[in-house]
Amino acid sequence: MDFGLTEEQRLIVDTTRAFVENELYPHEAEVERTGHLRRELIEEIQAKAIEAGLYAANMPAEVGGAGLDTVSWLLYEKELGRANYALHWTCVARPSNILLAGTDEQKEKYLYPCIRGETWDCLAMTEPGAGSDLRGMKATAMQDGDDFVLNGTKHFISHADIADFAIVFMASGEEDTPRGKRKKITAFFVDKGTPGFTVRDGYRNVSHRGYTNAILEFDNCRLPKSQVLGEVHKGFEVANSWLGATRLQVASTCLGRAERALGHAIEYAASREQFGQQIGKFQGVSFKLADMATELKAAELLTREAAWKYDQGTVTDQDMAMAKLKATEVLAFIADEAIQIHGGMGLMDDLPLERIWRDARVERIWEGTSEIQRHIISRALLRAVGG
Ligand SMILES: Cc1cc2nc3c(=O)[nH]c(=O)nc-3n(C[C@H](O)[C@H](O)[C@H](O)COP(=O)(O)OP(=O)(O)OC[C@H]3O[C@@H](n4cnc5c(N)ncnc54)[C@H](O)[C@@H]3O)c2cc1C
Repeated sequence: MDFGLTEEQRLIVDTTRAFVENELYPHEAEVERTGHLRRELIEEIQAKAIEAGLYAANMPAEVGGAGLDTVSWLLYEKELGRANYALHWTCVARPSNILLAGTDEQKEKYLYPCIRGETWDCLAMTEPGAGSDLRGMKATAMQDGDDFVLNGTKHFISHADIADFAIVFMASGEEDTPRGKRKKITAFFVDKGTPGFTVRDGYRNVSHRGYTNAILEFDNCRLPKSQVLGEVHKGFEVANSWLGATRLQVASTCLGRAERALGHAIEYAASREQFGQQIGKFQGVSFKLADMATELKAAELLTREAAWKYDQGTVTDQDMAMAKLKATEVLAFIADEAIQIHGGMGLMDDLPLERIWRDARVERIWEGTSEIQRHIISRALLRAVGG
């Protein structure tokens, strides 16, 4: 594994960072203050992102994306992650990779418009009674002739307000396994406006102002079989094949924000004076900086290695769990210490630190909680010795 960046990767980092600093940072204060991302603002930034070749750059070149390898894609994610989440997710969207699993017709209808910036997607698995334990989902899709009829509720669904359609996972049957009965899951495309499908406002959330989550209700929502994504009863297989690296995406965006917070802390430690000297000269402050930088590097190396292994086809669930766990926890640590180094000013919204600190909180919960990542890691360790 080569730790240096290629010329192309350097260019990706520089271009994305310049875009983030020039086009996203100036709007952060408005989004934070209003808690809302204006449609005109979305369209303005989106047009610039498309022009700069940064929009949907996660996608393969043959469908109109940038065709990046995983290491390069995650470098781009890290730079986007520096900014307010609502701004970068909506205005420089990265459509879900799972759209690549669709049939040719489904790609025409769902994938390409997302890549062109005409539509947005959202993904719905979680339910009020089924979070970490997704197999425990209660929402159902029952086959009726050639159709499926969907009933039940999904919640915490990110971006469902702006999305034009949802990729929804439903329990479609049961099977016997050596460990008892297990639900079979099927994934569907559900268009907004389909009778029986309602999107309701979700909960107010401490992290990521300007971004929303929603509640999806299905009440005898009838879909033709052509709306199935992948194979019937193979929803988790399609998710596992196409959503594997999403945890690395979360890790990378966290690294970007952690680096931004650390940058503020270093500058402040070198300029703020108390007791007649720079506070960075006090070991109580300088050792914090050393620990922050060391932890950040450890998280970055774990993420980079997992990305590299992803491209080699050798990545394990454990590798990706370690990267997600470390990067999200390091972001929380760095955000907190950066505030401490700034004293009272760290808590004021003149600086992005209080926001980075709030935003960090959700990262240890979504895409699999820290406990679930630890479970994945420890299970791999124990299984290796017959545990
Ligand atoms: C803001 C936000 C946006 C989200 N967006 C989406 C989305 O777009 N689509 C979607 O489908 N989902 C989404 N989610 C759901 C998210 O993935 C879940 O919140 C997460 O998986 C945890 O589920 P839960 O909240 O129900 O917690 P629970 O699963 O109920 O967990 C509660 C606690 O128990 C612990 N726990 C559970 N099982 C174990 C175990 N086996 N071992 C040890 N500890 C355990 C957890 O770690 C946690 O601390 C979102 C969540 C949030 C907060």
